[in-house]
Amino acid sequence: QTVLRALTAAGFEARVVGGAVRNALLGHPISDIDIATTATPDEVVTVASAAGLRSIPTGLAHGTVTVLAEGQAFEVTTLRADVETDGRHARVAFSRDWSTDASRRDFTINALYCSADGTVHDLVGGLADIAARRVRFIGDAGARIREDYLRILRLFRFHAAYGTGPVDRAGLAAAIDGRDGLERLSGERIAAEMRKLLLAPDAGPVVREMSETGLLTLILRVVPRPSVLETAIAVEAAAGLSGDAMLRLSALALGVEEDAELLSNRLKLSTEESAQLMPIVYGSDLTPALPAADRRRRLYRIGVARWQRAVLSSWIANGSAADRSWIDLLRLPDSWPVPRLPVRGADLIAAGMPAGPQVGAALARLEAYWLAEDFKPDRDALLARLGDEP
Ligand code: ATP
Ligand code: MG
Repeated sequence: QTVLRALTAAGFEARVVGGAVRNALLGHPISDIDIATTATPDEVVTVASAAGLRSIPTGLAHGTVTVLAEGQAFEVTTLRADVETDGRHARVAFSRDWSTDASRRDFTINALYCSADGTVHDLVGGLADIAARRVRFIGDAGARIREDYLRILRLFRFHAAYGTGPVDRAGLAAAIDGRDGLERLSGERIAAEMRKLLLAPDAGPVVREMSETGLLTLILRVVPRPSVLETAIAVEAAAGLSGDAMLRLSALALGVEEDAELLSNRLKLSTEESAQLMPIVYGSDLTPALPAADRRRRLYRIGVARWQRAVLSSWIANGSAADRSWIDLLRLPDSWPVPRLPVRGADLIAAGMPAGPQVGAALARLEAYWLAEDFKPDRDALLARLGDEP
């Protein structure tokens, strides 16, 4: 209200647009609030400062100024028209026409505007599509995709998040028709859309549809396994865990270890994300059939951080979501805090062993014995054993 009022008081029009309006109408949570206005970026800066609001010239060339009000950031963007498109980026001109601004947006549900008094302005039939949970391009789907091929991924992503039933037929046909344009997209943009898609409520069936058309293979450049993704989603739910994009991506696309590097390069994943990729392959022995002592030894060796992912991975590949016996395996770190070897190098030296590589070797032998004895020998027992060694 503060930002909208500052702009309208200065004689400009200003409305909330896009995701915030869509989500408010759907009853979904709202992340950030974008505002569209007839004011030019310079005018936005002037109005903000006159109203005592701080502003940051985020993307002046695209018409965006970030205005801060009550600790929250609002992206205020001047109404625009696409002058030229090249399949990904558009050259834009500022405009004063709401209908032009609406028609350059991708989907009807993303082009609703809301004034400060709560009036929703629908210039493209978005309200009917919100009601029908329909994700539909504004205008001709083929033409809209040729302007920006990222919209192929956005079609599936928004459908998985807000749509119902199968993906819009005209959109799907246009996506197939425009598939060669996928080659122009950067790994980072593909990854950003894929992360959101994989975490969307309908990710399973929508990814299956993407896969059946062959589009997913072109996008990821590895062999997709939509049924494994569906198992992963069911396993996460059975385990009471929230969705994990890298686990889901691993389920979908990492049928062989070798593909981890390919996928990581393709999607330009960060080192941190790449480390979370985990091939989900059949035949692990980390299953509920593993005897208790072996479970403990395995957990000790790989550590708590890797344990959960390793169990989930094996559960997805070798089990079924309905089988509750995996839960105990998964929760082992809760019931069994991982112990530390009760002797250290300093203890061995204090017991008379000269410092040097033999200390590490002796520690390794004691650790192997301690593990074989299921972590039972205490410090004294281990030091006593040291004395017995040759
Ligand atoms: P999210 O909750 O995922 O952020 P959003 O609707 O805010 O959803 P953004 O990608 O942040 O999505 O984009 C904001 C708005 O800008 C969209 O609602 C849409 O109107 C417009 N938009 C964004 N990207 C495109 C695009 N590639 N082509 C056309 N319009 C777009
Ligand atoms: Mg957004």
